[in-house]
Amino acid sequence: MDKNEAIELAPEVIQLIRNAIKQNFEEQLKFLSDFVRIPSLRFEEAPAQDFMSEALSKRGYEVDDWLIKIEDLEPLSGFGPIHGDFSRARSVVGTHRPASSNGRSLILQGHLDVVPTGPVEMWTHPPFKPVIEGDWMYGRGVGDMKAGMVAALFALDAIKNVGFEPASRLHFQSVIEEESTGLGALSTLQRGYRADLALIPEPSGHAIYRAQVGVLWFRVSVQGKPVHVASASQGSNAILAAYDIIQALEKLEEEWNTNAATDPVYSGVEHPLNFNVGKIDGGDWASSVPAWCNIDCRMGILPSQDLKSAKEAIKSCVAAASRDHSFLSNNPPKVIWNGFQAEGYVVGEEGNPAIAVMNNSHSTVFGSKIGVPEQKITALTDTRFYGLYYDIPSFCYGPIAENIHGFDERASIQSFQKTTEVFALFIAEWCGLNFLPRPSASGEKI
Ligand code: ZN
Repeated sequence: MDKNEAIELAPEVIQLIRNAIKQNFEEQLKFLSDFVRIPSLRFEEAPAQDFMSEALSKRGYEVDDWLIKIEDLEPLSGFGPIHGDFSRARSVVGTHRPASSNGRSLILQGHLDVVPTGPVEMWTHPPFKPVIEGDWMYGRGVGDMKAGMVAALFALDAIKNVGFEPASRLHFQSVIEEESTGLGALSTLQRGYRADLALIPEPSGHAIYRAQVGVLWFRVSVQGKPVHVASASQGSNAILAAYDIIQALEKLEEEWNTNAATDPVYSGVEHPLNFNVGKIDGGDWASSVPAWCNIDCRMGILPSQDLKSAKEAIKSCVAAASRDHSFLSNNPPKVIWNGFQAEGYVVGEEGNPAIAVMNNSHSTVFGSKIGVPEQKITALTDTRFYGLYYDIPSFCYGPIAENIHGFDERASIQSFQKTTEVFALFIAEWCGLNFLPRPSASGEKI
């Protein structure tokens, strides 16, 4: 079929699929709860990948479960360096190959890595003991983005449960590292997975992410001169010096946001580029002037900004802030790139057939003629790898979640169910549907 050709789903088929989702929803909620219970923090994602790998095998997908080799990824565009034990890092892909293929192929990708909880006593319920209250399920990772992943998986189940299969090749990808480098997504591309579209069910609140910023992670490593605090004036305090660097970087942030006011994509978005000092570490002893301080930083960049020049600008900003400093002028801080080295991404015109289909599916479920809202976000997602480097249009659409990366992260249960419906209809329309071969009375396949 033509890639842009629309498939009209019969109203009876739509109803059958939506009913199937409703009928299986208790099971789906339980699955989500079991998934959230697994604390899939960075470098500890293996049990969650086992969970996903088993769920895919059980459903009859052809499962590819492999160890990621960092050296395979290093030469690729979008690579971000990792400092930590990556030796057990895995990607899992479940593939569906229909008996006869005539639709458009699809990648459904979700990340199961979650960000740290912060002090657990600040949570109402323990972060890895999911609890349902009213319309919300609480837990670290439930919103970002386990609910979206489970919605995609159960959307496929619903299609099968009513006697169909997607009429095209489909890859369900379970990845790690979305929150720090994106290397999980990159590993699936390095492995050779391609499709006509990659849909990522991040918690978009039923909007399409049309544009996203780029992100740079870096550590500024500041040195000091340690002396006994009794003669502090003869030393140089690395922690205090780090504050000067932070202030300079905040000025750079403001400069870039001022420039963003005339950006072709982000001009209407208030303060799209956020600088964050996410972690600070330094010193050894309360009565010693600290000799070292590391600050871990995140800076946003516009899709129109060149990654290399943005990095140069950050380095010069740190260098300039050190020049007037008596100790740092001779002992300049180091800038170490240690995570995201990500360019911004805008879903281009080539993404439009998919967005039109998403519009249809969303409108069918929500009964709205306005169509699916679009957003330009001030964060990033894995979509950039597919779109920027592999010519695979990619966008996010997913459920409503709140407090992601904060305390009491939660996902709306009603929205979780609706997202599943939207996905099932989307898959049906994008991939097309085949009847599943059913055993006949005589036991033969018909
Ligand atoms: Zn996410």
